[in-house]
Amino acid sequence: MHRLTLIIFLLCPLTLLSQEVTLTRIDPPSWWVGFKNTELQLLVYGKNIANSRISVDYPGFAIKKISKVANPNYLFLDMTINAAARPGIATILFRAKDKVVGKYLYELRARKKGSAERKGFSSSDVIYLIMPDRFSNEDPSNDDVAGMTEPMNRANPDGRHGGDLKGITGHIDYVKDLGVTTVWITPLLENNQAKYSYHGYSITDYYKIDPRFGTNDDYLKLGDAIHQRGMKLVMDMVFNHCGSENWWMKDLPSPDWVNEWPEFTRTNYRAGTSTDPYASAADSNLFVRGWFDTTMPDLNQHNPFVKNYLIQNSIWWIEYAGLDGIRQDTHPYSFKEMTAEWGKRIAEEYPAFNMVGECWMGYPASVAYWQKDALNKDHYNSWLPSVFDFPMYDALNKAFNETESWNTGILRLYDVLSQDFSYANPSNLVVFAENHDVTRYLDTQKDDVRKLKMAMAFVLTTRGIPEIYYGTEVLLAGGAYDGDGFKRRDFPGGWAGDTHDAFTPKGRTDKENDMYNYMQTLLHWRKTKEVVQSGKFRHFIPRDGIYTYFRYNAKETVMVILNNNEEVKTVETKRYDEFLKKFKSGTDVITGAAVTDISHIVVPAKTAMIVELK
Ligand code: CA
Repeated sequence: MHRLTLIIFLLCPLTLLSQEVTLTRIDPPSWWVGFKNTELQLLVYGKNIANSRISVDYPGFAIKKISKVANPNYLFLDMTINAAARPGIATILFRAKDKVVGKYLYELRARKKGSAERKGFSSSDVIYLIMPDRFSNEDPSNDDVAGMTEPMNRANPDGRHGGDLKGITGHIDYVKDLGVTTVWITPLLENNQAKYSYHGYSITDYYKIDPRFGTNDDYLKLGDAIHQRGMKLVMDMVFNHCGSENWWMKDLPSPDWVNEWPEFTRTNYRAGTSTDPYASAADSNLFVRGWFDTTMPDLNQHNPFVKNYLIQNSIWWIEYAGLDGIRQDTHPYSFKEMTAEWGKRIAEEYPAFNMVGECWMGYPASVAYWQKDALNKDHYNSWLPSVFDFPMYDALNKAFNETESWNTGILRLYDVLSQDFSYANPSNLVVFAENHDVTRYLDTQKDDVRKLKMAMAFVLTTRGIPEIYYGTEVLLAGGAYDGDGFKRRDFPGGWAGDTHDAFTPKGRTDKENDMYNYMQTLLHWRKTKEVVQSGKFRHFIPRDGIYTYFRYNAKETVMVILNNNEEVKTVETKRYDEFLKKFKSGTDVITGAAVTDISHIVVPAKTAMIVELK
C-alpha cells in the first residue's frame, strides 16, 4: 500500500468507511417515452444508496417521489415522464457528502412504430413450445460460462445440455416449414442455480438472458428472425417465485419482499383453493404464500414495489424484444389482485396483446374463473385473456386409451367441450395434448402413433389456439420415469456429432417422416383455413366410438370424424343432415382423396378423418 494511502486509511474513521455509497444497478435499466402510463418506478441498488441525494436534469423526466425501505442499499424512485420528454440519455446523479458517488446514463428510448397496436397470438396461430436447453446447441462456447454455477452435463437428464438461442435461430426455418406460426420458449432469463438450472423457472436476474443461452442481443436476433418469417414470439414469465440465488436474495430490500415462514414451508399446490367457496383461510394462505420449492422463494406481490417491479418487467420485455405474447407460469399462485393489475396495465398499453396463464386445474369451471371477463360471483376479473385448456388435456390423455362406455372413451372430448359455457372466450383457450411438464403423449398412448395422430388432428381442428410440443412431429417420446428430464429430451440432430438428425427428411426414419408429413400437411392446411381458425363449432353426441364435429362459417364447412374403434367403420351421416344437406362431396384433407359419397363415409380404425365439404 502506498504510504499516503495508508495514512488516509488510518485517519479515516471506521464509521465513514462503512458509510461508503456505491451504485450497482437500476431496474428497469432503460425505458421508453410515449407510454400511456407516464409513471415509472426505478429500483436503485447500491451500498448505502439510501444515504445519497439524487438529481436528474432532463426535460420531461423528473423525480416525483423517493422511497426508502428497510434496507439502506435500496431506493425506489417514482419518476414521471411527461409529454415534453424526448428520446435520449438522462443522467441520474447520486451524491454523498457533496461528492458524486454514482452516475447512471438512463436511456429513454423511442417506441417502434405500431408498437402499441401489436396483435397477440390468437386462434389463427399454432404455438410451438421449445425448451431452449434441449433443442439445439449451436454455440458450444457458451456451454460453460464463468460465474455460472452449474456446468454442462449432457449425460445427466436433469442437467444442462447446452442448447441455446443460436440453436433456435439456426433452425427457425425448420420451425416455419413445419407450419406452426408462433414460438413459445420456456424461460430464458438467468438461472444461476446449482441444480436444475436448465428449465429456467428459478430466475436470478429478471433483466438478463442466461449467458448459457446467449445474450439479450441474441434474443433480439431470434425475435427478428421469427418476425421476418411472419411468425410470433411468446415469452415465458414467472411472477410467483424467483430463484433462491437471485441477486436480491442475498440482500433483500425488505423482509416482506418474499413470503417468509419460520421454517421452509411448501405450498399445497391446490390451486382450487383460490376459487373454492368453502376454502379454509389456512389452506388458501398456504397455497399462495407457501414456497413452490426450497430453491424457489415465493415473491410477495402485495408489496407495492415487488408488484411494480414485475409489471414493469413485462412491459420492458414486450417493448424491448417486440413480444407477441406472454405465457405466465403458475398463474394462480401469485396474489390475484396483482396479476389482475398486471393484465390491466398491459392491456392499457397493448390492447390487442395476448397472454396465457398456466391455471392447472381439471375442471372447466375452475379454469374459466381465471379468464378475462369471466362472470365470477366474487366479481374478480383476471384481465388474463387466455388460459390453457387443462381439462381437455386430461380428456385427450384418456379418450383414445379407454373402452367406450356412457362416460368414457371419446365421450370425454365431447363432455369437456359441452362445458364451454363456463368460459368468457372459449376460442382463446390454448389446447394441447402435452407440454414440458407432463409425460409425452406418445408414452401415455403406449407408442401408438395412430392415437398421437388423432390427438394432433383434434387439437388442430377444435376451437382454440393449438399448442404443439417440440419434437412431437418426429415422435419424440419420454415420461417422468426418473425426474422431469425425460419429458424434455434433446431434439435429435441439435448437437454436433448426433448420429440421428430429425431436422432433415434424410436424417429421419420412415416412421418419423410419416409423422412429420402428417403434421406438416395439417398445419399448412390450417394456416389457410379461416373456418378452422375462427369458424363456429358444432358437434354430435358420440355413438359407437364415433365422434363427429363441424367447423363452419358463411363460406366453408369442415367435417371431422374421429373413429375411436379398433376396426374400420362406415359412418352413416344422415344424422348430420343439418350440415350435410347442402353438400354433395368432399376432400380428405390428409390424403387429398375425393370423398364422393358423403352419405356413407369409411373411416379406418383409430383415425381422425378431416373432410372439406364441397
Ligand atoms: Ca451452447
